[in-house]
Order: sequence, then C-alpha cells, then structure tokens
Amino acid sequence: MHLRKRVLVTGGSGFLGSHLCGRLLNQGHEVLCADNFFSSARANVEHLMDNRRFELIRHDVTFPLYVEVDEIYNLACPASPVHYQHDPVQTIKICVHGAINMLGLAKRLTARIYQASTSEVYGDPEVHPQTEDYWGRVNPNGIRSCYDEGKRCAEALFFAYWRQSALPVKVGRIFNTYGPRMHPNDGRVVSNFIMQALKNAPVTIYGNGSQTRSFCYVDDLVECMLRFMDSPDDFVGPMNMGNPVEFSVMELAEKVIDITGSRSPIVCEPLPRDDPKQRRPDIALAREKLGWEPAVPLAEGLKKTVAYFEKMLHSGM
Ligand code: NAD
Ligand code: UDP
Ligand code: UDP
Repeated sequence: MHLRKRVLVTGGSGFLGSHLCGRLLNQGHEVLCADNFFSSARANVEHLMDNRRFELIRHDVTFPLYVEVDEIYNLACPASPVHYQHDPVQTIKICVHGAINMLGLAKRLTARIYQASTSEVYGDPEVHPQTEDYWGRVNPNGIRSCYDEGKRCAEALFFAYWRQSALPVKVGRIFNTYGPRMHPNDGRVVSNFIMQALKNAPVTIYGNGSQTRSFCYVDDLVECMLRFMDSPDDFVGPMNMGNPVEFSVMELAEKVIDITGSRSPIVCEPLPRDDPKQRRPDIALAREKLGWEPAVPLAEGLKKTVAYFEKMLHSGM
C-alpha cells in the first residue's frame, strides 16, 4: 500500500507518459497529466478519463505552470528524430524552458522531480557499453543537436538546482524503449518496422543495418522510473535506464518480419547524418541502487507491440 501522493506527469499523454500515468493510478495516487498533444493523441489516456483521481490539462511546458503537487515526472518533449527535428528551435525551448519551469515549480513546492533524460547525451559514443561517467561525443550543431544538446542543458539545469537549492532531483537516461501506444507514424524504428511488416510493405533499413540499439519494453522502463523516484533523496543520478541486450537494426527487422509472418522485403535507404553506430546501456548502477533488471525479452515485447498495432489497423485508426 503506497501513501497517496499527487503527481504531475508532463508529456503524460505520450507513449511513456500514458503508461506511467496508468501505473501511478494503479498504485492509488492522484495524477495530473499536462500535455499539449504535440506528438501524441488524447486517445492514449482515454481509458484513464473515468478515473476520478486522473486529471488532464492542455498545457505547454515552455510556459509557467502553477499547481500543487508532491512529485513531478518531466517527460514533455518529442522523442522521435522525425518529431524533434520538425521544429528544432521549439525542441530546444521545450528542453530548456520546460526544465526551468518545472524546476521552478519543484523548488516552490520542494517536490521531488524526475527528468526524462536520454542515451542521446552520449551522442555517437566511443565508449561501449555506455556508463554514466562517460561524457559523450555529441555534434553540437548537427541535425540531432536540438535534442541532444537540449537534453544535456536540461541535465545541467537539474544538477544546478540540486547544488544551488538542494532540490531532490532524479535524472534518468532512457535508452530506446518500445511498446503499445507508440505513435504509428513517429518514424522510430520499432513502430516503423511493425507498421511496414503488417502492411507487407518494404521494411526500410537506414544504412546497412549494422548499427546497434538495445530495446527496453515499456513496462520494465516504467518500473525503473517508479523505483528511482522512491529511492533516497541523496541518489540523484544520472542513471542509465534500459535493456542491456544489444541487437543490430538488421536483426530487429528480421525478428519483426518473423513475428508478423510478413511478406515484406527489406530495403536499404540512406543513413541519416550523425546516426549513432552503437548503443547499449551499462545498468550496473540501476541494479545496485534499485535492484532493477529488465524482465521482458525483445521477442515477447515485440509480440505485445505487434498485437497493439494490429488492433489499431483493424479498427481503422
Ligand atoms: P512521446 O512523443 O510519445 O511523448 C512526449 C509527450 O510530450 C507527448 O505526449 C507530447 O505531446 C508531449 N509534449 C511535447 N511537447 C510538449 C510541450 N511543449 N508541452 C507539453 N507537452 C509536450 O515520446 P516518449 O517516447 O513517450 O518520450 C517521453 C520522454 O522520454 C521524452 O522526454 C523523451 O525525450 C524521453 N525519452 C524517450 C525514449 C524512448 O525510447 N521512448 C528514449 C529516451 C528518452
Ligand atoms: N515557475 C512555475 N511554477 C511555479 C514556480 C515557478 O512555472 O510554481 C516557473 C517560473 O516561470 C520561473 C521558473 O519556474 O521563471 C524558474 O523559477 P525559479 O524560482 O527558479 O526562478 P525565478 O522565478 O527566480 O526566475
Ligand atoms: N532506423 C531504420 N529504419 C527506420 C527507422 C529507423 O533503420 O525506418 C534506424 C535509425 O537510423 C537508427 C535506429 O534505427 O539507426 C534507431 O532509430 P530511432 O529513430 O528509433 O531511434 P534513435 O536511437 O536513432 O534515436
């Protein structure tokens, strides 16, 4: 039984946010979800609307927010390269102004605040697997820089508020996470491959498919976020959160085609600039501090995700 808290989730109608809101409600908390629906649909939280402990407000985090809460999860930010490169100036504002506003709110309330940071702070890494003490190799002015440097600045802000105002912050670097309620058209690799395979359309590999990623199922990731928030005040991170099993993009394509029983051919398209060649989290810190370990293997998580997209296609959404 958890003590009932009032929790703010920014970006709460997004892919990760909607799962987090659901889990928090299941634990008996009150949830205030703030989202401007830039990269998600209200449909993601429709199933929560009947719960009297759930409240949804349309709000853009680049503007101040005055509410009363005990905890804040700051997830508001488009996460897929297609979405965050669509309006790079706005992406930087969301990362930086959004962080300042949510930190100001947390400071006024002395509330714990979690920041959804990212493996992108490591850029195209020359340390493998990535440990938290690695400072990264980021192009400061490339096409990914609006997101990478925005998120790095947000980390700097979180640690500055922690040092200067003793704010209880939690900075978690999320590695590629997938699952139901990903946006079908947001261009990320798992949603792209599944949608293409279900339509028997060509599966588009960028480059030759030898680049690697490590894919975490959403339920595992949300469990990690909750444990991190409940950890002692002096554990602030940064902490890697992700599944340490690494796959090449080619292997992912083959797995998706196999699971869907698709007739899709695999086609190669140009590799976008600054695309990281390899990525795998070292999760020793999360294991030690939170006793956390991902439990869902890729094949099992993909089956659940495929089932979600199949249902979506059949319902004509
Ligand atoms: P998502 O795009 O599904 O969710 C982001 C949510 O933020 C959306 O609901 C969007 O409408 C909202 N949003 C965007 N701009 C906003 C603004 N100005 N004000 C209020 N809301 C706004 O993406 P996601 O995968 O759920 O990612 C959630 C967070 O986790 C992001 O901060 C992302 O950077 C981080 N993250 C995700 C992954 C991943 O693999 N899913 C990896 C690393 C980091
Ligand atoms: N802020 C907010 N809600 C609050 C308190 C602050 O949105 O409840 C915003 C406000 O826009 C402010 C920012 O957070 O500019 C940073 O607040 P902080 O107190 O750190 O700085 P200051 O107000 O001194 O600029
Ligand atoms: N990718 C791909 N085909 C696609 C979409 C993505 O080959 O249709 C590749 C992309 O170039 C990258 C990897 O898959 O190497 C992961 O891409 P995603 O956009 O999901 O996330 P990233 O980790 O790059 O932020």
